[in-house]
This record gives sequence, C-alpha cells and structure tokens, in this order.
Amino acid sequence: MRNLNLNRLNRILIIFSKINPKPKIELTFSSDFELLISVILSAQSTDRMVNIVTKNLYKHTNTPKSFLLLGVDNLKDLIKSLGLFNKKSRNIIQTCSILINKFHGKIPNNMFDLLSLPGVGRKTANIILNSIFKKNTIAVDTHVFRVCNRIGFVKEKRILNMEKKLFDIVPEKFKFHFHNWFVLHGRYVCKSKHPKCSLCIIKNYCEFKYKNF
Ligand code: SF4
Repeated sequence: MRNLNLNRLNRILIIFSKINPKPKIELTFSSDFELLISVILSAQSTDRMVNIVTKNLYKHTNTPKSFLLLGVDNLKDLIKSLGLFNKKSRNIIQTCSILINKFHGKIPNNMFDLLSLPGVGRKTANIILNSIFKKNTIAVDTHVFRVCNRIGFVKEKRILNMEKKLFDIVPEKFKFHFHNWFVLHGRYVCKSKHPKCSLCIIKNYCEFKYKNF
C-alpha cells in the first residue's frame, strides 16, 4: 500500500513539475522582511486581500524600524480590512521589536528562532525558510492539508502530522516546490467547496470519494 501511494505521489509530482516547473508564491513583496509581514498578514485572509493592503502599507512602512514608528494603532487602521487585524497588528509590532533587539534587524534562518516571533507558526516559518533561505521545507496550510487528504496518499487529521509525513515521503528533488504546487492546485482547481475534478490534471491519481464530475 505504501509503495502504491508513493508511486501515485511521484506521478502527481512529475505532472506538477512539468506543467509548472517554478511555481511562485502569490504574495507581492520586494524584500525578505516584506515577505515575512505578508505571510503573517495572510493568516485567515486571501493573498489577494493581503496584496491590496500591503500595496499601500509598504509605500511608507517596510522595515522593522518604520513599523515601530508607525505603532500598533496606526497599523490596525491600515490593515483593518483583513481578518484578525487587532491581533496581527500587535504581533507584527512585537515581531519588529524582537527583530531589532535580538536579530540585528535580520530575519532568522532557523525554525527555532522564527517560532520565537509573535504571529509566526510552523506554516509561516516553513514558508520563510523555503522562500528566503531556499531550504527544502514543506509548509502545510489549509490548501495543502485538504488536497493531500483528498488525493489520499497521506491521510491525516492534524496539520503537524501531515507536515512530518510529507517531509518523510516527498522525494528530496520535489520538496522545494511542493507547497506552492499544492497551494495553487487547492486555490484554483481542488477548491474547498466545488473542486473542478473534470479539469484536474491529476484526477487519475486521486482517490477522493466525492469527485465532482
Ligand atoms: S480529482 Fe478532484 S478532488 Fe481529486 S485532486 Fe483533482 S480536483 Fe481535487
């Protein structure tokens, strides 16, 4: 059974790698710091909404120091169209303070230090390690979690278990792009409510019981 699943997984990854060899994160950013802030802002918000907000925000505020000068209340006002904006504002200001006082204003390059930043969980840390530091991490967000469970090569109820299992079974050469392939597939094809199974390029390798044909 394990070999069968690995075979299916390999075929899926080969298809994704041929169709989209270099998948890109859809958040807009022009520095490592901006990416960190955008990923923190993206919790329970769409990338599209985050990009709308940050287009204005980053015009004048795109360094840890400038966020501290802006302050929590002004930040809340600028990001209030996003979910959880109160909490995100507090977390971002605290994170900027820690970056300046503990990490010389730089983004740490390891999971332990990243997780010490308020608003940064494993998903965000894995995205940062992957996108900025080019490490073969696999971030599991809601799309990755749903799509993998539907396809069925990994079935898990907990995100952390899913991350560990994926890290274990995804071949090294496919790890780097895994997150972005599955996020894009989940966002545009294997949608939460109405998956577009008839258009799905990996439908032959999916064992979802409720395929939408
Ligand atoms: S066949 Fe349907 S359920 Fe399976 S991965 Fe494709 S879109 Fe998702």
